[in-house]
Amino acid sequence: MSQGCQHCRAGILTGRSEVPNRVATSIKAHAHLRHCPFCGSWWEEGEREAHVVSEEQARSIFPSYFGGDYEEPKTFSAAILNVLTSALDAGGSVEAVAQWSKALVVQMKRPLTDAMRTNLQEKSADLRFFRHNLVSHYEASEGFMDDRSATAISFPLS
Ligand SMILES: [Zn+2]
Repeated sequence: MSQGCQHCRAGILTGRSEVPNRVATSIKAHAHLRHCPFCGSWWEEGEREAHVVSEEQARSIFPSYFGGDYEEPKTFSAAILNVLTSALDAGGSVEAVAQWSKALVVQMKRPLTDAMRTNLQEKSADLRFFRHNLVSHYEASEGFMDDRSATAISFPLS
């Protein structure tokens, strides 16, 4: 069975709340259900420990969450994860995961270098490159949007 990825394992260890994202609570099981937007793993988090469970197990422990108009939590697409891997390899780090109005976004801590931008644009022709200046409550940023999965990666503009 999958044991999650570096992002959700780190999130479980540090107790950072957004990754893996807490999506449900079972009073009966004294547990929370968390979902990783990077690898799609489900975590059952008890009072003392957390571990990865299959979706089938998650459904049996948290039946009310999966009933009715259950909306599957988003997982970053492979194309977005490829950009993320390149950015991490180049020394970048994740600042936060946020839900924007149109997409789930992994926000990186540092701006893109010119070389990195060119490299990523060439490698990510299937993604939509975006750049927006400071508007309302969004920081000025640029990045890559996967319209099909409604997931994206953004970098602050320096
Ligand atoms: Zn994960």
